[in-house]
Amino acid sequence: RKIVIAIDGYSSCGKSTTAKAVAAELGYAYIDTGAMYRAVTLYLLEHKIAFDNLPRIEQALHELHISFKRNRRTGRNELCLDGEIREDEIRQMYISNSVSEVSVIPAVRHAMVSQQQRMGRKRGVVMDGRDIGTTVFPDAEVKVFMTAETRVRALRRQEELAVNGEHVEVEAIIDNLTKRDHIDSTRTESPLRRAADAVLLDTTHITIDEQVDFVLERVSA
Ligand code: C5P
Repeated sequence: RKIVIAIDGYSSCGKSTTAKAVAAELGYAYIDTGAMYRAVTLYLLEHKIAFDNLPRIEQALHELHISFKRNRRTGRNELCLDGEIREDEIRQMYISNSVSEVSVIPAVRHAMVSQQQRMGRKRGVVMDGRDIGTTVFPDAEVKVFMTAETRVRALRRQEELAVNGEHVEVEAIIDNLTKRDHIDSTRTESPLRRAADAVLLDTTHITIDEQVDFVLERVSA
């Protein structure tokens, strides 16, 4: 029987690395919901739509098309905005600096949550984000909530950005992570919080393999 695995938590705790590996192990689909909020942010910035222009944002949500395309060479699921792969752009720092302002907008959340529910309706999916276990799939069979010390998270993020060709000081990353976590956990619409039935996983001192095993053990339990 196929299930839904919800992986939520703070920014850069290793959610997507863990989720991707768990999905590969189980032959499940992997959906990175953060990429979807990043794509909406990219769209608004490119179309010069102000974050407080609600009528225009609602129109944009009808116009834009978000999907994921599997790269056969790397095996990676790449985010597509209006049919074009935009994976590298959405990971850049200027998107990270604006995405939490966009993800507080209720109309944006409603559109993303319903698309995520449609994508996971057949189950057999690992979804990572901030509100999967609380809002998108409150009936998920396995729920994990990930945390880690801020500096460890920032150093990991710095490495990812470097792979993507962008050098950013650790302090600037810490500042971004802290601000995003604050905005994400204090917004009124589906704030970032641990679901009552989610198990806590602190990744500060453990390896990726250990994180993956932790989730897989919950699946077979
Ligand atoms: O996961 P990632 O760090 O790429 O997410 C980027 C941002 O998207 C988060 O800081 C948050 O503002 C928003 N987000 C959200 N709900 C989700 C996933 C991401 O609000 N389920």
